Amino acid sequence: MSSATLTDFYTYMAKQRQKEERNAFHIRKYGNIIGEKHSNLTILGILDSCSRGKGARVDCLCDCGNLKVTYIAYLRARTVKSCGCLKPIPRSIYNKE
Ligand SMILES: [Zn+2]
Repeated sequence: MSSATLTDFYTYMAKQRQKEERNAFHIRKYGNIIGEKHSNLTILGILDSCSRGKGARVDCLCDCGNLKVTYIAYLRARTVKSCGCLKPIPRSIYNKE
């Protein structure tokens, strides 16, 4: 293993650790929502927090197998129920962005 590869490995580990620490921070803030299921979407992880009343941005897995990034508030309000495979997402949702 070359030293460059080893450095990459440590960089990767540091990033993983940061990701875990960020997840832990968000779990303290929002509760452990990872694994929660809202309609067709299962929460896989928290990407970051959002200050505009939409809650944290989350990575979700749809029942159809697609990944979807959305906000906790949209899931709880059932505004977003799937990756888009259930029905077309109304334009009004995008306009709120
Ligand atoms: Zn889907």
